Amino acid sequence: MTIAGNRAGAAPAARLYPSTTVTCDGDLDLIAIERAINAEPTPLTVPEKIHAARLLDERGYDFATIGRLVASDPGTVSDWKSRGWPAPKPEAAPIDLGGRDHGSNGYCLGCRCRDCREPVIAAQRARRARRRAAAA
Ligand SMILES: [Zn+2]
Repeated sequence: MTIAGNRAGAAPAARLYPSTTVTCDGDLDLIAIERAINAEPTPLTVPEKIHAARLLDERGYDFATIGRLVASDPGTVSDWKSRGWPAPKPEAAPIDLGGRDHGSNGYCLGCRCRDCREPVIAAQRARRARRRAAAA
């Protein structure tokens, strides 16, 4: 007969929650951060990695563990902490495109606003996904 259970001291650590009330904070996907800090490998943006690392540091994790959980070098995590957990750069303001719509030209006209960047980022993600699928 097998009795399911955990040995004393072997119980799983309590799940960590970045928030219990909201799922995103600006550009931060708090669900992705929650998965990452609970050792469920999840792709994070750099600002999400910094936020996750700060949460783990506040909970007493060492740089090596934090680096493993947020898929970054422990030296990078140490650097983020020494720089006070740098916030993401503020959103670039749209530039004058001479009456053309933002979001249809990518970087070709030099605008880096969200509407212009998003189609470029989506195309990069699709290209990377195709490359991964071709390599598998
Ligand atoms: Zn723009």
